Amino acid sequence: MNISAIKFETPDIRDIIGDEEYNDLLATAEGLTLSGCPFCGGEATARIGTTWTIPTVSVFCTSCGCMTPRGWTGGKINGGTYSLPEKLTESAAIWNRRAEI
Ligand SMILES: [Zn+2]
Repeated sequence: MNISAIKFETPDIRDIIGDEEYNDLLATAEGLTLSGCPFCGGEATARIGTTWTIPTVSVFCTSCGCMTPRGWTGGKINGGTYSLPEKLTESAAIWNRRAEI
């Protein structure tokens, strides 16, 4: 994944998650490969943001805008806490999954 292509919706995400997790996030992104969009063949990248103050991540198509569900890193709603790198890896796996037809 091209690091420069990641869209950071929340400019201060580094302050929210801390330097260690931020660096881990970039290293994780570097090691991921995203398939082309299943609908239009466009290039995909990740969108990092927050819902309220909880960091979220999704993978989306830069051409048509379709996207994976937002992966929440934690909070009371899902009863657990995950790191952004973990959720980025999960979102990439969801994006890359293709049904056999
Ligand atoms: Zn697309």
